Amino acid sequence: MNIDDSIVQAYLAGRICKDHWIFNLHAFNEPDSRNRQDVEKLSARIKENILSFTPQKDKEIKLLFPDFYEIRAHVSVILCVGLHQPYDAMVRSYNGREFIIFDLINIGNDVDTSTINGLLLHEILHVCLHEKYASEDNVPFLDKMDYLVFDEGFAHALAYFEHFPNFKYDSLAEERYLKSLEMLERALLETNSEKQEEYLVMANTGNYWDKFGSICGKMYLLKNMDKIVEIYNDGPRNFCKRICNDTRG
Ligand SMILES: [Zn+2]
Repeated sequence: MNIDDSIVQAYLAGRICKDHWIFNLHAFNEPDSRNRQDVEKLSARIKENILSFTPQKDKEIKLLFPDFYEIRAHVSVILCVGLHQPYDAMVRSYNGREFIIFDLINIGNDVDTSTINGLLLHEILHVCLHEKYASEDNVPFLDKMDYLVFDEGFAHALAYFEHFPNFKYDSLAEERYLKSLEMLERALLETNSEKQEEYLVMANTGNYWDKFGSICGKMYLLKNMDKIVEIYNDGPRNFCKRICNDTRG
């Protein structure tokens, strides 16, 4: 993995670096200079993690993404400061290439190694999935929601499985799944375009269990791990409908 830490280096040297292309996508939020020591320490830890990271339970990952290790070897990671909350880890494309971006202030300096590895795996999985299924901007609301739930579902489910290989789909999981499914169903019925945009944001932001799109996709896939290859090959089209039909009967 290539690491670009030029924004962090500039910040640590007391310079402001807001010309980077990521601040054309996301408004620059001047980082507090009091975070320098923490950022310096976290930057060293994250670099170490990135260079040594390899998933332990990679059976499903390799089934879906036979090129996973090649993609991991070539992907670029940008370490930065200066994004607004809640942006801590994400994938963005620039000039036809995808980049994993971590904001070292927004991640928080108390983040542990297993969380960093989880975030890293989650973002690499997005890059892998986007190679087969690229996102499109100018498509109808339902297509956007299908893509979001599919993309986040796979990245969440596989990264989760890596850390909790003994996961059992129990009544608490079912309760959380049904709660997010209700929200998803409400969103799918929305016809007002402004509210549709709000739903697309809500589907993947805020408190963990409130990210109804991500949770719905994740739980559905964890529930159907035995069919995960088939579901992946069917692609994002009508994924939400598939979730609703399979669950509601
Ligand atoms: Zn994600």
